Amino acid sequence: MLNHVDVLVVGGGPAGAALALGLKDSGLKVMVLEAGGGSPLPNPPPLAGEGAMDRSDAYPDPRALALSYGAKMLLQRLAVWDKVQGATPIEKIHISQRGGFGRAVLDAGEAGVKTLGYVVNYSALGAAMQATLHQNNPLHLGGARVLEVKSTPGFGLARFERGGEEHEVTASLLVLADGGRSLGQVPGVSRHIVDYDQTAIICHVMTDAPQRHIAYERFTPKGPMALLPSGEGYDLVWTARPDEAASLLLLDDPGFLQQLSERFGSRADAFVQAGKRSAFPLSLKYARPVTAQRLALIGNAAQAMHPVAGQGFNLGLRDAWELAETILKTPRAELGGSAMLAQYRDRRRSDTSGAILFTDLLVRAFSNDYHGLRIARGAGLALLDSLPFAKKWVARKMIFGAKG
Ligand SMILES: Cc1cc2nc3c(=O)[nH]c(=O)nc-3n(C[C@H](O)[C@H](O)[C@H](O)COP(=O)(O)OP(=O)(O)OC[C@H]3O[C@@H](n4cnc5c(N)ncnc54)[C@H](O)[C@@H]3O)c2cc1C
Repeated sequence: MLNHVDVLVVGGGPAGAALALGLKDSGLKVMVLEAGGGSPLPNPPPLAGEGAMDRSDAYPDPRALALSYGAKMLLQRLAVWDKVQGATPIEKIHISQRGGFGRAVLDAGEAGVKTLGYVVNYSALGAAMQATLHQNNPLHLGGARVLEVKSTPGFGLARFERGGEEHEVTASLLVLADGGRSLGQVPGVSRHIVDYDQTAIICHVMTDAPQRHIAYERFTPKGPMALLPSGEGYDLVWTARPDEAASLLLLDDPGFLQQLSERFGSRADAFVQAGKRSAFPLSLKYARPVTAQRLALIGNAAQAMHPVAGQGFNLGLRDAWELAETILKTPRAELGGSAMLAQYRDRRRSDTSGAILFTDLLVRAFSNDYHGLRIARGAGLALLDSLPFAKKWVARKMIFGAKG
């Protein structure tokens, strides 16, 4: 077993895989340790106590990801995009609130792009990334669960278990891309958690007419709902209080479709079929700072957000891209040093803080039934809809991040 590498990535999910692919032509020794299969197979089930709580089992991961046009461009540069199966383009986003006036429509043409983004399945994206990684990175170890990370001024160290045996590997730079769930406290990094008391139910639904590449974002007092065009139908993300979510999981399909129609109103066509339902508890989790001695955090390990604005993976991909760029500009001897880490931190600050604040504001301002706020929300949506330059600005921030 090789025991020193330049960059060690803990977690081969979308963010960790993107970083490794961004470094594939660097000449650096890059190792990825992934607890799951590590082959072009579906991702492993979420770790105990977190992630999907499925009605039967959560394998493979059923979640739909809305990827921005900017994320697609990055995936193309990483040679992943052409392998992603079943991506559905989003041409318009229709935003409205239940029980109040005002709506806004974001349009790809008005934003100056061909499509606003795409809907892809998490497992399909994972499979495409793993396949590309396998072609390019011989140091990609599946079935390798990291048990502990440590760092010294000169190197980082990970202790991991694979095939019933324990191993250790050291690296000039350790990157945590484990989704933030598995390693507990990391020295030098504090974790912050905001519990929204909301759970997302996700499910594929069909309507009586094929979808028309419009994504619907509907704010209700109990939480936001999204219908993302996917194949001929839609992927539904329905946020609700945990007790209501538990009841929704127990309903039979006709009962569930009935509740969905009542909650969603007549924005989309009539719902006629519902697939398997899964539930994800929702919170905001973020780490500060996103670097420590010989260590950098990317993706959900750095920030895991409410899915309302569909920003989580898009942001994680930009973390990976910008860390790869920072590494590529750093002389090998200075890899993982404080100057390099400070550069990565500074490059990411405005993008991640902006996305966290924007998403948190959306959840708080739109998940309630205060009369005054309902009027303000409606006025805000109507105003946004009437100002083409404002719509273009919002769309481009969502597509390309804070740096536009
Ligand atoms: C319901 C829902 C809907 C969402 N919708 C969207 C959306 O529309 N758009 C969007 O951009 N984002 C969305 N997100 C967020 C998105 O899913 C995440 O941002 C993204 O998956 C983060 O990728 P990651 O690689 O950082 O972490 P993860 O996807 O959690 O991957 C972490 C990887 O690390 C591995 N791992 C964990 N611990 C260890 C260990 N100790 N040792 C080795 N390997 C380990 C895991 O097996 C896994 O493969 C949504 C999230 C949810 C819950």
